[in-house]
Amino acid sequence: MDILSLTIGRIADMVRKREISCLEICERFLDAVKERDGEINCYLHVNDKILEEAKASDSRLAGGGSPRALEGVPVAVKDNICVRQMPATCASRMLENFVPPYDATVIERLRDQGALILGKTNMDEFAFGSSTESSAFFTTRNPFDITRVPGGSSGGSAAAVGARLCMGALGSDTGGSIRQPAAFCGIVGFKPSYGVVSRYGLIAFASSLDQIGPMTRDVMDSCIIMNVISGRDSRDSTCLDYDPPDYTRFLREDLKGIRIGVPVEYFPSGIEDSVREKVQDAIRAAESLGAEVEEISLPHTGYGIAVYYIVATAEASSNLARFDGVKYGYRTPSHENLLEMYMNTRGEGFGREVKRRIMMGTYVLSSGYYDAYYRKAEKVRSLIRKDFEEAFRKVDVIFTPATPEVPFRIGEKKADPLKMYLSDIFTANVNLAGLPAITLPVGYSGKLPVGLQVIAPFLREDMLFKSASAIENHFRHTS
Ligand code: GLN
Repeated sequence: MDILSLTIGRIADMVRKREISCLEICERFLDAVKERDGEINCYLHVNDKILEEAKASDSRLAGGGSPRALEGVPVAVKDNICVRQMPATCASRMLENFVPPYDATVIERLRDQGALILGKTNMDEFAFGSSTESSAFFTTRNPFDITRVPGGSSGGSAAAVGARLCMGALGSDTGGSIRQPAAFCGIVGFKPSYGVVSRYGLIAFASSLDQIGPMTRDVMDSCIIMNVISGRDSRDSTCLDYDPPDYTRFLREDLKGIRIGVPVEYFPSGIEDSVREKVQDAIRAAESLGAEVEEISLPHTGYGIAVYYIVATAEASSNLARFDGVKYGYRTPSHENLLEMYMNTRGEGFGREVKRRIMMGTYVLSSGYYDAYYRKAEKVRSLIRKDFEEAFRKVDVIFTPATPEVPFRIGEKKADPLKMYLSDIFTANVNLAGLPAITLPVGYSGKLPVGLQVIAPFLREDMLFKSASAIENHFRHTS
């Protein structure tokens, strides 16, 4: 048995029965990172203290301490989430030397349950992107084909789970950044309902859209991590005052009585044939498991990308105003006066895509354009949200492809931002509506994985995990 191939659920069980030590687990993963990460490039920073931490966990157990939910489990963390005394660069020169003095709430909760942080993962700079190519440091590669992208912006986390260089990871999802890379790397990526997971310690991109969520090998592991990280937090005012359920209770093997909606707008002519086929296979599988499937319409779907790129850039331009050379991170060495200090710091510290987003966001918020762009986008956002509300009067969950295509080649879209932005076509509307959604692998196109997306109503994670686990179970037994 290779430790690398185990799920969190399985390893937690082995630790409980003392069949394996925390040190053995962490040594195996650390060795794997040393062997393979030179090729995949998932990690920006590896925690060199993890073996000591694993030994401390073993001593605690030896001293009679009872094993916790994630005892000894090595977890990777996207580099926009603060981990005490590890760099949090957001894959940007701007924060290259920033080492936060505190843990994000999600990290505190992982540690409280015995998880060990293996390292910080690569991403698109400040989470702007769908390929990890906009990282200021290097591009992460897809573990299924190293000439292709792992997706983004949580590409390092997705590739680390896909290449078995950690047991599970955290990502953040503003327009698809957990789900799209998860689909590209053949893993499970979950974006919770808005407000279910605290964002204290997440370096903000677009605050009305951002959510932290788990990236894991299977649906059960996603639930295990959700049980640990979800729930109210007085340090994040957008976090709901809500008692999260035990997510692991929802796993099922059949879909009896579940009504699935398949929106026509999510199967446009431009979608890749192999993606369409695999997703249709999954829909047929759902029917064979007892679900009722019906075609639905989400008529404002086509406006999603435009609305998303107005709302998200507007919020980003405001959130990134804090990086001015005074309070955090990089400060230019060359300036004659204060204004020049600001300008040169931001000019030198941010990469091209970040500057593009700040310019777009500033433009759509500027006087004279605010009504034409930002205000109008917010109105269309309400229509997109209403489409989902209408649909969920008839169905329990919605099935769509996770992405319109399989992982593309490194460099293929880098010079064409609009093409890159279209990667979010099936994921961004879910963030605009604040809904929970998960992507999971449902087959391959050649050697590249294809993902299904399951969307549920607000706070109906029960429906989402039921459906996703039944589909996963089906494919596990047929593949
Ligand atoms: N790819 C999208 C973007 O570039 C989504 C990013 C994200 O979810 N962080 O904005």
